[in-house]
Amino acid sequence: MELQNVRKVYRVGDERIIAVDDVSLSFEKGKIYCLLGISGSGKSTLLNLIAGLEKPTKGSILFHKKSIEKMSEKNLALFRQKYIGFVFQQYNLLPTLTALENVMLPLIFRKTPRAVRKKKALAMLKAVGLGNRYKHKPSEMSGGQQQRVSIARAFVNEPEVVFADEPTGNLDTKTTIEMMDLITGMAKKFNQTLIIVTHNVELSVYCDQIIRLRDGNIESIEECTAQRLAYEAQRAAASEEAEAVAVQKDGE
Ligand code: ADP
Ligand code: MG
Repeated sequence: MELQNVRKVYRVGDERIIAVDDVSLSFEKGKIYCLLGISGSGKSTLLNLIAGLEKPTKGSILFHKKSIEKMSEKNLALFRQKYIGFVFQQYNLLPTLTALENVMLPLIFRKTPRAVRKKKALAMLKAVGLGNRYKHKPSEMSGGQQQRVSIARAFVNEPEVVFADEPTGNLDTKTTIEMMDLITGMAKKFNQTLIIVTHNVELSVYCDQIIRLRDGNIESIEECTAQRLAYEAQRAAASEEAEAVAVQKDGE
């Protein structure tokens, strides 16, 4: 996936707002990216452009060598259903549907038979730790649980690319760590490209590359796979130690 000199200008009355100025980037399959920047730096706009939700004013967005900005609305919808998953800060679950029905939705578009949809969605809900909550509606779940449902929905049809826009913006620290483990763990397991948009620099320890945005331009790009692996190793060592302590206590 590649962005070539992408620009997005909004017109509000007489004013022109340059949300994305001139951005060129490439994303490799299976890598985890962090789009980092303060509020208003153009992160969400860039994400919407890459996902084909908005058309660039200038430049090109290539996916499998095709310019997505040239696609018709119908083909864009198909492109998103087939290749893209979303996790939003506000979860964006349908309030009248149960957890299971919400997770089954992306599969409906793909014409998967109902029994298979149900089986896949249930397996996905189990994978995010909500196997016993599948009948609940969003209003009957905590923020963290709703975000788990939205993660299950984003990954259920095994998209090539998953976008997460401030996925932990409404969550406490403990739940943030759980959600990040879940999202990045799934992406790694299925070799998916993950693009996390955030203003929270602490999330960068989960990523292979940090792309810093400022005023609609790239400020810097930093490779950080080594830091990610070090963080993973540190977490693994800490949990091993905790286990050893627990075993010791059991023996006492
Ligand atoms: P971020 O996600 O980093 O907070 P955004 O991409 O949402 O930034 O916004 C970048 C800039 O573009 C901001 O100045 C914002 O006000 C402006 N902007 C975003 N969307 C629109 C829109 N639909 N119409 C007009 N201006 C917009
Ligand atoms: Mg935003």
